[in-house]
Order: sequence, then C-alpha cells, then structure tokens
Amino acid sequence: MTASGPAGEFAGLVAVVTGGASGIGQAVARELAARGATVAVLDVKDTEFACDVTDDTTVRAAVAAVAERYGRIDVLVNNAGIGAQGAVDGNTDEEWLRVLDVNVVGIARVTRAALPHLRRSPHAAIVNTCSIAATAGLPQRAVYSASKGAVLALTRAMAADHIREGIRVNCVNPGTVDTPWIGRLLDAAADPAAERAALSARQPHGRLVTPEEVAAAVAYLAGPASGSTVGAELAVDGGMAALRLRPE
Ligand code: NAD
Repeated sequence: MTASGPAGEFAGLVAVVTGGASGIGQAVARELAARGATVAVLDVKDTEFACDVTDDTTVRAAVAAVAERYGRIDVLVNNAGIGAQGAVDGNTDEEWLRVLDVNVVGIARVTRAALPHLRRSPHAAIVNTCSIAATAGLPQRAVYSASKGAVLALTRAMAADHIREGIRVNCVNPGTVDTPWIGRLLDAAADPAAERAALSARQPHGRLVTPEEVAAAVAYLAGPASGSTVGAELAVDGGMAALRLRPE
C-alpha cells in the first residue's frame, strides 16, 4: 500500500501493534509497514504473535518473541479493545471487569513487557487507542466510557513517567470508525444499510471515520514529526468532540 506519510520514516524500527488483526489496528500495522517499520501484530486471532492482553503469560511470551525475532522494539501501539452496551446498571460485575481488563489493564501488561526494549530505543513512542467515549458522556456505554476515561488518564500518567527516559506517550481519540466492530453493531440492526446511513449522517462531517485516517494519526504520534508532542490526545472524529456532539 502507499503510506499517507513519508515513506521510510520508520525504516529500521520495530513496531508492536495490539489488536492488529482487524479494523483500526490492522490499518495501523499496514500504515507503519508502508512507512518502513517491521510490524509485529499481537492479537487473539489470525496472527503470528498470538497474545491475549488479559493473560500476562501470553503477553510476556509474545513481546519476548518479537524482541528475539527482530532484536528491538521502538514503537508500541496499545490498540486492542472491546466494547459493551448498557447504562451503569446494565452490565454484570464480570462484564465490567472484562472490559476494564482488556481495555485498561491490557495496556499495562503489554507496556510493562515492552518497556525494557523501548528504553533502549532512541526513537521510542507509545500510542494508545482511546476514544471520544473518554469524555463525551455517551448514552448506554457506561463501562466502555469508564475504560476509555481510564485510558486517557493512563496515557497522561505514562507520559509523565517515561518522557525522561525518552519514551513519548500519546493517544488517539477516534470517533465512529468504519471497522468490523461497527459492522457487527450495524448488522444487529433491523435494516443495517439504513442504520449505516443514519449513523453517517449523525457525524459532523457526514460520514464514518476510516481506519486509515486513524492509522495516519497514530503514525504521526509514533514518528519523529511529533517529537515534542507528549501526553496529548489527538481527535480523529470528524469534529465530534470539538463541537460537543455525540453519536446516539
Ligand atoms: P475490531 O473489533 O475491529 O478490532 C479489535 C481487535 O482487537 C481484534 O482483532 C480483536 O481480536 C483484538 N482483541 C480483542 N480483545 C483482545 C485481547 N484480549 N487480546 C488481544 N487482542 C484482542 O475493533 P476496532 O474498531 O478496530 O477497535 C480497535 C480499538 O479502537 C479499540 O480499542 C476500540 O475501543 C477503539 N475505538 C474504536 C472505535 C470504532 O468506532 N470502531 C471508536 C473509538 C475507539
């Protein structure tokens, strides 16, 4: 594919992308590879580096396998995530803990395993996939919003802890992105095509965000062009957050 940014920008660097077998993560993996990175996808499915971010043993094994195979890790994209619908009383404890485990503690596990390698890189960067849900007050997304609020806070805390080690940490805040995740939600509607059209019309720019647009933002935050950007959140949402709108 053609990179949307400078070709060769990540030449010689190794990037780890969690949740890279689908949707946003897959687009990120392609974008970083097109810009010259060697990319290792960590995912529960369809990948060489099988890894469940809720299982510390598989996380450690996958990160160690990447480091052994490629000799270094320079970029970590913490993107694996799951959702859940419902108000605060709409999910069981098990559902709450599952979402928080994947979306929040998963970031801690993978980062913990990757940090010794990132510390040795002169180009170290971490990008977390957050969401407009972190701040928007979305209806019927209580646990998901709580998890992404935590990702936003965690991004800033990680940035503070690691910038003196030369590791930049930032996050992207996507709006509604056209991925298999959203596809599954639309497929559950009575008329998926009509629901897609309605959802698109509700976006400020009249369409869904593409995974490639999020990937370009991730690549920017992971690369040298953003060298002074630390602890930041980059919205890729068609204006949703800035206009104080929310997808219903
Ligand atoms: P997706 O379902 O298409 O892809 C998610 C990937 O994560 C899958 O490949 C899945 O196998 C993997 N994954 C899930 N649980 C995992 C686990 N425990 N360990 C390892 N891998 C796991 O979803 P997507 O839409 O591409 O979402 C990716 C990220 O973007 C998520 O963090 C999500 O919260 C965030 N996000 C998505 C949207 C959207 O509208 N699609 C909006 C804002 C933020």
